[in-house]
Amino acid sequence: MRRYLISGNWKMNTTRATAVELAKALVSGAAAATDQVDVLIFPPAPYLIPVQDAVAGSAIQVGGQNAYFAAPGAFTGEVALDMLQDIGCESVLVGHSERRHVFGETDELINQKVKAGLEKGFQVVLCVGELIEERQAQQTEAVLDRQMAGGLAGVSAEQMASIVIAYEPVWAIGTGHTASPEQAESAHAHLRSWLTSHYNAQVAEATRILYGGSVKASNAAELLGQPNVDGALVGGASLKAADFLPIIEAGVNAAG
Ligand code: PEP
Repeated sequence: MRRYLISGNWKMNTTRATAVELAKALVSGAAAATDQVDVLIFPPAPYLIPVQDAVAGSAIQVGGQNAYFAAPGAFTGEVALDMLQDIGCESVLVGHSERRHVFGETDELINQKVKAGLEKGFQVVLCVGELIEERQAQQTEAVLDRQMAGGLAGVSAEQMASIVIAYEPVWAIGTGHTASPEQAESAHAHLRSWLTSHYNAQVAEATRILYGGSVKASNAAELLGQPNVDGALVGGASLKAADFLPIIEAGVNAAG
């Protein structure tokens, strides 16, 4: 039985004060929900520590939006996995579409980050998803296959216990154009069958596959109700407790 994971990617938003305020509102609003679903937030790197302090004692988890695979050293502007670990982060987001398409991250780099994260004991949330022109050209499944094979190269079946996949069609991120529940389910079912053929049925059954792309309170229940959707990765609607808490609640209802 896969446990739902509702996660919030705050991207390059919030101030220190609003980040702490949001975290505190989630602690009080999601206290009961975290008995039934996992809640994981990804604040901007400078606010990780104050947000961790704000959620201390609650079940809300805090992860890094990105990290570099190398050991600490001469990599100006980067954050090392060791540094995330040093401040108590246990999860890291890898391969988000903005990292791929704004910052030019390749499947090879993403794979280095995935493997380094796993070696250090992180839960790695690996994002995959097609561009609109790829969907229109009926290449969605081929793109997902390429990103899965590239991102997970060299990852063993045992290590897959620490991987979460997030299906995020790029055309749905921050656009208000959510994938229909059928489109999401079809992509998720495809990803699960990829896991069966490249690993085994047990890995496919156990791996959580989140949907991301304009998830909001009004569409969360239907998306989370799909058999192969095990949670959500939420951007814009994770920035206000009043928007994010109902999505967590939709996860609780789907789990129940
Ligand atoms: C995201 O950033 O991963 C995302 C899905 O954003 P939004 O919910 O705003 O589309």
